[in-house]
Amino acid sequence: MLLKDKVAIITGAASPRGLGFATAKVFAGQGAKVVLIDLDDGASKKAAAMLGEQHLGVAANVADERQVSAAMEQVLAKYGRVDILVNNAGITQPIKLMEIKRENYDAVLDVSLRGTLLMSQSVIPTMRAQKSGSIICISSVSAQRGGGIFGGPHYSAAKAGVLGLAKAMARELGPDNVRVNCITPGLIQTDITAGKLSDDMKAGIVAGIPLNRLGEASDIANAALFLGSDLSAYSTGITLDVNGGMLIH
Ligand code: NAD
Repeated sequence: MLLKDKVAIITGAASPRGLGFATAKVFAGQGAKVVLIDLDDGASKKAAAMLGEQHLGVAANVADERQVSAAMEQVLAKYGRVDILVNNAGITQPIKLMEIKRENYDAVLDVSLRGTLLMSQSVIPTMRAQKSGSIICISSVSAQRGGGIFGGPHYSAAKAGVLGLAKAMARELGPDNVRVNCITPGLIQTDITAGKLSDDMKAGIVAGIPLNRLGEASDIANAALFLGSDLSAYSTGITLDVNGGMLIH
């Protein structure tokens, strides 16, 4: 068991086919107590219950400072520590540059970038006091290649911002043995595309992937297990590409 008795918080974890829930399942299977945070209280609690009674489902909007600190209070009251945070909550919008309005920018940047900052700030005092912790930020291959897959330019910008934020956090938190790393998934089959990705679009994307398939949520969950566990004890500030070879650099 790689995560025996570790406490892991995963944001955006209630979507049944999503990367967050897949990661929660893998972490729970490795002995972690998992806190599943998502927007809807019922969905968060239902997802946690599917993993077993030692896990916790909490409602919070990661972009809302008050909701984030209320969620952290619940976590610390129940478990008293936090070993892993996976900043996974994110939304995307398939729109072009000139269609981006203030509300599109705010919505997409708020969840991925502000959410990553606020959630990280909420766990850092505890991790620093413990002198250990692993923060994993889910960015995207869109940040590295400038989109062109599904999300618009504001999504690429938000996810590129996450890479910069994570690297700067890694530098600042390293002396306290708190590691911060990113995963950049390629196209993974979840519900984030909300039925807007046609079979033709998928086939076009697969044609550019050396491993010749789209990703599965478990591909990301297993990468998160590596970064969350001591298997990666000497890695901080890294970007782990999990994209089937879609971007090789
Ligand atoms: P998903 O839509 O299946 O799940 C995202 C979850 O985040 C949902 O349960 C949603 O309710 C939750 N969420 C949204 N806004 C929130 C908020 N403000 N506070 C709390 N929770 C919120 O998506 P997914 O495909 O599993 O994506 C997970 C992460 O991976 C996202 O950050 C996404 O940008 C990133 N990503 C996904 C892919 C892909 O191809 N699926 C590729 C690269 C990166």
